[in-house]
Amino acid sequence: MIMLYNTRTRKKELFMPREEHIVGMYSCGPTVYNYPHIGNYRAYVCSDLLARALAYLGYSVKHIMNITDVDDKTIRDSQKEGVSLKEFTARYEQAFLEDIASLRIRTITRHTRATEHIEEMVSLIQALLKKGIAYRGEDGSIYYSIEKFPSYGALSGLRLQDLEAGASGRMQADEYEKEHAQDFALWKAWVPSDGEAYWETPLGKGRPGWHIECSAMSMKYLGQQFDIHCGGTDLIFPHHENEIAQSEGAYGGQFVRYWIHNAWLLVDGKKMAKSAGNFYTLRDVMARGVDPLAFKFFCLTAHYRQPMNFTWEALASAQQGLCHVQSAALHMKEMAAHAEEEAPCARVHQLVDQLKADITSALHDDVNSPQALAALFDFIKAVYKEKKSFTRADYLELFRALCDSDRVFGFCLEEIVIPDIPHEVRSLMEERERARKEKQWEKADEFRMHIEEKGYAIEDTSHGPRAVKR
Ligand code: AMP
Ligand code: ZN
Repeated sequence: MIMLYNTRTRKKELFMPREEHIVGMYSCGPTVYNYPHIGNYRAYVCSDLLARALAYLGYSVKHIMNITDVDDKTIRDSQKEGVSLKEFTARYEQAFLEDIASLRIRTITRHTRATEHIEEMVSLIQALLKKGIAYRGEDGSIYYSIEKFPSYGALSGLRLQDLEAGASGRMQADEYEKEHAQDFALWKAWVPSDGEAYWETPLGKGRPGWHIECSAMSMKYLGQQFDIHCGGTDLIFPHHENEIAQSEGAYGGQFVRYWIHNAWLLVDGKKMAKSAGNFYTLRDVMARGVDPLAFKFFCLTAHYRQPMNFTWEALASAQQGLCHVQSAALHMKEMAAHAEEEAPCARVHQLVDQLKADITSALHDDVNSPQALAALFDFIKAVYKEKKSFTRADYLELFRALCDSDRVFGFCLEEIVIPDIPHEVRSLMEERERARKEKQWEKADEFRMHIEEKGYAIEDTSHGPRAVKR
């Protein structure tokens, strides 16, 4: 039984989806106005991890992630550059999709663009107008009246009565602080500075506010109530607070059952953010020769609710950790080559069951990824320690178990490729191993020389010998 920390109730709760074995989840995706930084990618790695964990535990997961391709920032920056909104956002959307592919974020069932859901947003605003929760301001824009939604502030712990003075105003901007909680814009009437960014709709000429986008898209694909909504902690207020107000205000009932928020990626103790200028992109990481999967490994070394500090040294040690796992996978795959489908020995069953049990119990505890990684390392250590006792069939089973656990991590261990070494070099390697086992050192040296004549060198690694092309 999986326990998840729900921001709404501020405690770990037993996760019970609406429908048995089926989970609907929504993650707030990128605003495509620039290359996302690796802080943003921590959020997407975390929601991918959650979806992977649920799938590993037997749930069928529908995971929707939006792409914010119209908001204050996309309009502002496309105009600065003098290109159309579409052309501008398409460039960064493409970069985002490439980045998540290289991070092997693969659980997203569907990406939804805000600009393709204007109709749904308009209907939702109409429902709010009909209920008297939304109203039109003198500027022609439509606002949400927060005093009409008594539980406004429950997610973020904001008390409306403390805000009486400020709450009389109205907020046009998409982003603002908790101290400035007030009526927020659902629909922004066109102003000349919006340029071409407008839609002619029954609400008039204008564009949606940012918050209505996620309410409309999540409910379209997941229903008026769904299981999980994810995002970074900075989205709790105002974005998620406003999503709840909009969705529950329009249709009643509970909008989201479990609110899951990831902690920040920090640099020198401060949140990594575009506005602070203390950010790196995934491209910066790759330019330093670091595998994007090492960044993912780095993220998984901390629990998703734990803030983590980014340093290049920490990333380098994550790269080492990743290499350790990948070379263990390669070793097991190599040792399993040409294995017959025979029953593995009892010890292998024990190791495989232990791995599965340890990973399951780590995930049950609010998706404890550091604990799950530790279970993976323990498994690898035990396999190396007892390597002499395993047959090819045993290795096949061990490799399969490793790949099965990788459904949680997504390091793509199954896709690991055995270096292309000619058959004769392989047999010479085996002959050399046999000679060494029998302590026939001279014979072993002869095999080594033959191997070298064929253009390969032998590296004796801690996982056993390996041939490498010279
Ligand atoms: P944005 O494109 O700014 O809307 O952010 C996309 C996602 O990244 C949101 O879920 C944010 O909460 C998350 N995010 C932004 N900065 C960080 C950070 N430094 N650490 C972790 N998550 C972040
Ligand atoms: Zn959102």
